[in-house]
Amino acid sequence: MTTIPDVPSRFAATTDLVLSRAITASGERVDVLLRDGRVATVTPAGTEQFDTAIARVDLKGYVLLAAPAEPHAHLDKALTWESLATGPVDLPGAIDAWTRASRHLDRIETQDRALRAITEMVSHGVTAVRTHADVCPGDHPLAAVEALAGLRDATAGVVDLQIALLSRASTPDDVIRGAVDAGADLVGGAPYMEADPAAENARLLRLASELSVGVDLHVDEELDASVASLGDLARRVVDLDFPFDVTASHCVSLGIQDPALIADTIAAMVAAGLRVVTLPLTNLYLMGRDWETSPPRGLTAIRRLLNAGVTTAAGGDNLRDPFNPLGRADPLAIASLLVTAGHVTVTEAYDAVSVNSREVLGLPPAGVAPGLVADLLAVRAVSLDDAVARTPDDRIVIRAGRVIATSETTRRTALDPPR
Ligand SMILES: [Zn+2]
Repeated sequence: MTTIPDVPSRFAATTDLVLSRAITASGERVDVLLRDGRVATVTPAGTEQFDTAIARVDLKGYVLLAAPAEPHAHLDKALTWESLATGPVDLPGAIDAWTRASRHLDRIETQDRALRAITEMVSHGVTAVRTHADVCPGDHPLAAVEALAGLRDATAGVVDLQIALLSRASTPDDVIRGAVDAGADLVGGAPYMEADPAAENARLLRLASELSVGVDLHVDEELDASVASLGDLARRVVDLDFPFDVTASHCVSLGIQDPALIADTIAAMVAAGLRVVTLPLTNLYLMGRDWETSPPRGLTAIRRLLNAGVTTAAGGDNLRDPFNPLGRADPLAIASLLVTAGHVTVTEAYDAVSVNSREVLGLPPAGVAPGLVADLLAVRAVSLDDAVARTPDDRIVIRAGRVIATSETTRRTALDPPR
């Protein structure tokens, strides 16, 4: 029986590690040697004699996967469902509630919630997180950015933490510049919500260019097909020859537009190299709450984007806050939902929460192949399909070649054979 390995201190030196008898996503049983934070060799199980001095984790009964990454979180808001007690509200209602709550954001309390959310994510296999951080109303507009940037030391060596500012048209240019000084990695906003979305797309791209950072925008999170700022964004990226990564999160209206407009927009996105993040859990919750019959799913045009070769990732978005009371910070659960609601295959869904998410975050590829980064997730399951179907908590998480989290559950039922 597999012995669950210890989790070493995150400050411990990385040593070689053998992962033995793991099943890959494609069904092979392999031994994997990790060295210097990368996968050194992948060999058929039992065929290689490793130096007995090398530490070993027996992964018999586990499927070994590229580690997930969370491409779109809101850690400043996370875990406030109970304390803010809004009850079920739609997107404008949730925004109103958060605007009131964030006027006096407490740095320590925010960091405590965010760290608890990150810890849940890490326990499920996440080794990189991109979070958005609102510009707060009141006297401290960068309170959320500063609080989250202050978590980098506490999480170093366990997760890569990226912060995208979530600004509004009312946010002065100097506040956006100050956010990057304070630790934001990307400029962001929600141009579709502004009076002049095209002008806001232009302003945010101009500021990002000046600050030499990428852009991650909340785009067209509406079930109104006439909300269509995505094509404008893509064409501006091309016209400006914008040199940094651009991510379009949500892209909800793209999923319900006229097929000709969808095709036109996706062609512009391909030309611009835009990446997309779909957020099934929160958008299935928030979108179409006022539709009395047959509410749309509120997802983007996932199949068309995949067919066009657009990097399409999936994330958790809001975590138990006024925007979404649910969520278990688990990319396997998001992948499962994407299969059901987005009609993609299990493999496509797991890629969306793992390799595609890493690409959105600009991280080098991870996975079970020589030379790739050894950010890996072992799940007690017989296959990838089984892992996504059951989302078991029994997991071993490896970051840069070392174990950073283990979880083990015990189940007993009256139907078990006598022991
Ligand atoms: Zn969001």
